Amino acid sequence: MSASSKIVDRGFMLVVSSPSGAGKTTLTRNLLQEEKDDVVMSVSVTTRQKRPSEIEGVHYNFITQKRFDQMRDNGDLLEHAKVHDHYYGTPREPVDAALAAGKDVLFDIDWQGTRQLKESVLAPDVVTVFVLPPSAAELKARLERRAEDPADVIARRLRNAAEEIPHWNEYDYVLVNSDLDKSFMRLRSILQTERLKRVQNVQTLVDQLVADLAKLTG
Ligand code: 5GP
Repeated sequence: MSASSKIVDRGFMLVVSSPSGAGKTTLTRNLLQEEKDDVVMSVSVTTRQKRPSEIEGVHYNFITQKRFDQMRDNGDLLEHAKVHDHYYGTPREPVDAALAAGKDVLFDIDWQGTRQLKESVLAPDVVTVFVLPPSAAELKARLERRAEDPADVIARRLRNAAEEIPHWNEYDYVLVNSDLDKSFMRLRSILQTERLKRVQNVQTLVDQLVADLAKLTG
C-alpha cells in the first residue's frame, strides 16, 4: 500500500439554510443521493410533532422538551435554536464521528444555528449556503403544494421566512432557486470547490514524497 492511499482527509460541514419551501430539502436530498459514499446528513433532534411523511431517525429524531433540555445542558448539541415555536438541535457525536471518518456532513439548519457554528472552533470547516426562493408568491405556492401543514402553520412559516431571508448575507454562498436543476448543479459545484480547498493531510503526503525523492535521487 502506498503512503498516499492511507491518507484520510477530515471532512467538512456544508450548511444549507433557507425559509421552508424554498427547495432546500429537495436540493439536499439530491446531493445525498449522488454522494452516498462521501456525504452524510446530520439528523437533528426536534421537539415538534412528526409530519405524516416523516420517518423517525431519518428526517429528525423527535424528542420531548425534557430530553432536549437534557441534551443541551449536557453539551450534547453542537448548536440549537428555537424555530417556529419549536426547539431544534444538532447532536454532536454523529457529526464528530462522520468528520473523523473523512465524510462531509450536510446540515439543514436555520440562520441561528449557522451563526453558532460560524462562531465556534469548528468555523474553519464550516461552509454555508443560503437558498432564496425566486418570489414570495412562489414560496407560498410551494408550501401549499406540499399540503402537509394547516393554513395557520403555513402563515407562520411565511412570517418566519421574512425574518430568515435578511440573514442571507451571513452565508458564504447564495442560490436563487428558480430552476431546481440549475440550483443543484451549483450546489454540487460548491461541494466540489470546497473539497479541493481542503486537502488537510497534504503535509503527510509531502513528507513522504520528499523522503521518497531523496531515496530515488540517492
Ligand atoms: P421544519 O420544521 O420545517 O422541518 O424545519 C424548520 C426549520 O428548522 C428549518 O429552517 C430548518 O432548517 C430548521 N432546523 C432543522 N433542524 C435544525 C437544527 O438542528 N438546528 C437549527 N438551528 N435549525 C434547524
